[in-house]
Amino acid sequence: MVAAPNPPGPAVRAVVSRVLGAVRMVRRRRRNRRLGLPDMDPYAIFADIVAGRAPSSKVYEDDDVLAFMDIRPMTPGHLLVIPKVPARSLAELDPVIGGKLFQVAQRLAAALRESEVRCDGVNLFLADGVTAGQEVFHVHLHVIPRTPGDGFGLRNRATTPPRADLDYLAASIRGAAGRAQPNAASGPDGK
Ligand code: 5GP
Repeated sequence: MVAAPNPPGPAVRAVVSRVLGAVRMVRRRRRNRRLGLPDMDPYAIFADIVAGRAPSSKVYEDDDVLAFMDIRPMTPGHLLVIPKVPARSLAELDPVIGGKLFQVAQRLAAALRESEVRCDGVNLFLADGVTAGQEVFHVHLHVIPRTPGDGFGLRNRATTPPRADLDYLAASIRGAAGRAQPNAASGPDGK
């Protein structure tokens, strides 16, 4: 039997995360150039939308939350729900505001089904960190309407670990959850 390789340490993961971030940045710039979009600062664009300095197609707004159409929708009707207060990552987000993001997303999911958007189902998706696919560093919850055969989906094949592995990781996460402090300052990859 081949022993499982040791997982990379935090330093290696931080370097990999930075390299991935740089690669994504270059790709995003190329894509923006190809699509004729201005090269937006991934740290500022949503703050600019909140402040009205950048255009958006708004769908919902209250004191804490704004929702608008994604400029490059995965499916027609794809929405983004964001906090008005900037938070680069989930760790920086006030959990009360996080709860409001979900409430608004839930309401908009219902609205999508009632609207003219084709919507047989909805996916909520949030990328937290470069490795998770985050490209704009202002927390945002995607609300993605789904129709049969629309091509959107998670690509990874599910695994079937033994119960002992699940229990071990569950204990580790339970312990960490007891210690975790949401809304502590941290960088885009939760570091
Ligand atoms: P992420 O990959 O960070 O989860 O998603 C970022 C999302 O923001 C993408 O779906 C992208 O299309 C969207 N986005 C990026 N810039 C803008 C913008 O200026 N306006 C709008 N409405 N959406 C944007």
